[in-house]
Amino acid sequence: MRNQTFSRFPAFAQKQRVDLGDGRQFWAWLVNGVPTFPFRGAPSGLATVRQLAAMRLQPGNQEIQAQMLCTRYPRLAYLYRVDLAKPKRPATAAQLEALAKARAAALALRCWCPICQSTADHCISVREGRCGECVASGRTGPYVDVVAMWGAA
Ligand SMILES: [Zn+2]
Repeated sequence: MRNQTFSRFPAFAQKQRVDLGDGRQFWAWLVNGVPTFPFRGAPSGLATVRQLAAMRLQPGNQEIQAQMLCTRYPRLAYLYRVDLAKPKRPATAAQLEALAKARAAALALRCWCPICQSTADHCISVREGRCGECVASGRTGPYVDVVAMWGAA
């Protein structure tokens, strides 16, 4: 480990010749058997999940081919081979319906007023913890008292 004193992470001190599996070889750190490149230093042909999604692709069955590590502060990106990626399947109608149902349920939860035990026509304020009618009429409850104790209301 000749460069150990100059490396922030001793395990990354020396790079190795790494075969990426598509016939190309690069100098990279080998961390737990995974080729590791510095941030913005990965070769072409590799992409993250989000980059694949932008190309309407998905990793498919392939394992993580490499990773990109930022040594200045902790950031890690898993990289997949673009040539092994598969086209992304569009969401089915049932999936979209389930998603809409979940979003409606989450919205209804935000509209639920615990003071008057009813669903308001607006999202209740987190700061007030009650609907606008309860605020206007001065109705209070245990949660509103807690908020008042914090000094937020
Ligand atoms: Zn209310």
